[in-house]
Amino acid sequence: MIATLVAAQHEALAGLPVGTLPGSTKGAPLDPATLKRDATWRVALARILERIDVAGLPEPAQQARAALAAASADDLEAMADRFLGGDVKADQAAEMVFVAAALQVAWTRMAALLDAAALDPADAGQCPACGSPPVAGMIAPGGTKFGHRHLHCSLCATSWRYVRTRCVHCGSTDKISFRQFAGTSYLRAECCEACKGYSKVFYVESARTLEPLADDLGSLGLDVLVGEEGFSRVANPFVLGVMAAPDGNN
Ligand SMILES: [Zn+2]
Ligand SMILES: [Zn+2]
Repeated sequence: MIATLVAAQHEALAGLPVGTLPGSTKGAPLDPATLKRDATWRVALARILERIDVAGLPEPAQQARAALAAASADDLEAMADRFLGGDVKADQAAEMVFVAAALQVAWTRMAALLDAAALDPADAGQCPACGSPPVAGMIAPGGTKFGHRHLHCSLCATSWRYVRTRCVHCGSTDKISFRQFAGTSYLRAECCEACKGYSKVFYVESARTLEPLADDLGSLGLDVLVGEEGFSRVANPFVLGVMAAPDGNN
């Protein structure tokens, strides 16, 4: 189903209106909390709903698609606010997958038009373009013998350099430890004792192909494993409302 959805996202992105780009700002220019959102994401949503291969959707997703196609602009904007505020209830999870997908398309379109040199990574665990949490980190050869880590944004698909073995939530470098499944070398969970946060780290050299959002979803078992030890993270956008939020509201 996610492959079907991502294919529809790809189609929706082509030729999407640019949207309203911000002027020069302090901090992340596309931060949803400060950027005045225009209707472009709803154009993306309409395209996704129209073009998605319905045969690839389970029944609840088909119902969610129909409900969204009939929803008013006000209702859709309220849903977007809830998604961007991380306030997703389990009974909205199916519809929210489409809302998240459309917002990703609109934000990715805007992020691609930013001047990367003007962004300030600020040594942050959040996206320098939009301030969203990363979906995962990827370690690729480069720099020292240990390679570089790049974090990948959960909303706008920007990637940025971040120090290895450092908590993406609180910046601590103390008491970082790793968890992994036996026999799995391409993925570890980097766990922080200081804030009890964790993030996933994928090792490009140990896997044939990796895609941060897809491989994050493909390894939810690791989230369960570290979740049982009391570590938490911001959930992948496609499982918000299903996977518990760090504050336990869901
Ligand atoms: Zn971003
Ligand atoms: Zn931490």
